[in-house]
Amino acid sequence: MKALTYTAPGKFELIEKPIPEIVDPRDAIVRVSLSSICSSDLHILHGSVPRAKPGITVGHEMTGIVINTGSMVKGVVPGERVAINVETYCGKCFFCRNGWVNNCTDPDGGWALGCRIDGGQAEYVRVPYADNGLTPIPDNVTDEQSLFAGDILATGYWAAKISEISTDDTVLIIGAGPTGLCTLQCVMLYSPKHIVVCETDTDRRSLVKNLYPDVTVVTPDECKDKLYSLTDRGGADRVIEVAGSDITFEMAWRLARPNAIVTVVALYDRPQILPLPEMYGKNLTFKTGGVDGCDCREILDLIAKGKIDTTPLITHRFPLSEVLKAYDMFSQRQDHIIKAAIYPD
Ligand SMILES: [Zn+2]
Ligand SMILES: [Zn+2]
Repeated sequence: MKALTYTAPGKFELIEKPIPEIVDPRDAIVRVSLSSICSSDLHILHGSVPRAKPGITVGHEMTGIVINTGSMVKGVVPGERVAINVETYCGKCFFCRNGWVNNCTDPDGGWALGCRIDGGQAEYVRVPYADNGLTPIPDNVTDEQSLFAGDILATGYWAAKISEISTDDTVLIIGAGPTGLCTLQCVMLYSPKHIVVCETDTDRRSLVKNLYPDVTVVTPDECKDKLYSLTDRGGADRVIEVAGSDITFEMAWRLARPNAIVTVVALYDRPQILPLPEMYGKNLTFKTGGVDGCDCREILDLIAKGKIDTTPLITHRFPLSEVLKAYDMFSQRQDHIIKAAIYPD
C-alpha cells in the first residue's frame, strides 16, 4: 500500500509498505476513507517532534472502514464506518480512569498514531485499543462531516468543556485557524452572552463573519476596545488561546478579567513568560494542554443532530497520490486553504 512516510527531517515521501496486520487482540485494521493534514504533521516534518522517528507513517486525522478486528475488540465490527481518534488509550490506567487519556501511561497511549506508531495518511492503518480509538459514524453523518471529530474538533470540544463557560460569560477566542474554528463551534454550544474571535488574517475574519453572524470578529488592535464595550468586568470571563504566538499568549492573560479562566490550547515554538508580579491580584486560573480525546461519541452525536458542522473547513480535496501537493499548499497557506481532505486514489 501507499503510505506517506517521514523519511528524514524535512522529508516526507509516499512509499510502498505492507498492509498492516493485527499484532494485539485489541487492535483493528482500518481502510482509510479520508485523511487530513494537521499542523502537528508539519512539526514532525520539521523534525521538532523528537518522539516521531524516521520511517513512521504520518497522519492522525482520518475516517475509515474497519477491515479486521482482534479477538478482544467488542465495540466495532468489520464493514463499519468509523471516526479514528488521534489518541489511543488503554482505558484502565489512573489517567484514563479520570478521563485524562492524553496522559495514558500505556506505551501506545496518548498521541501515538502517526507519531510513534504508523498513522493514516496511507491506504490502511492499524489502530491499537480499537474499542477506545474507533467510534462508529452514525448513518446520517458523512465521512467529511466526521473527519475532524477525533483531532481538531475533539480539541475544540475539550477546550470549551474545561473552560467552564456559562450563559453569562463573554468568551474571547484568540485565533481562527482550523482548531480555532472548531473551538468556536464548541463554545457556541454553551450559548455564552458574547463570543469575540480575534484573528489577524482578513480571509479568516470574513469566513467567521459569514458563517457565524452573531459572533463578534476583531483584529488584535481592536480586541481590547471591543471587549470593554461589551462587558464592564475588565476583560473576558473566559479566554481560549488557540493561536500560539508570543503576542497572543500575552493577549490571553491581559484581556482576561480578574478571576477569569484562561485556557491555553495553542502549541508554542518556545517558552512563554508569565510575569507573576504584574499579574498579582488578578487571580487567574490557567488551564493548559493537549486534548483528552475521549468524547468522540458525544461529538458525532452533535454532528448527527446538526449542532456542529465542520465541513466548511474542508476547502481542498486531493487524492492520496497528490498528498505532497496538499502539504505544500497547507504549509504555505496557498489559495486560502483551511483544511484538505485526502481521498484514496
Ligand atoms: Zn492534529
Ligand atoms: Zn491509560
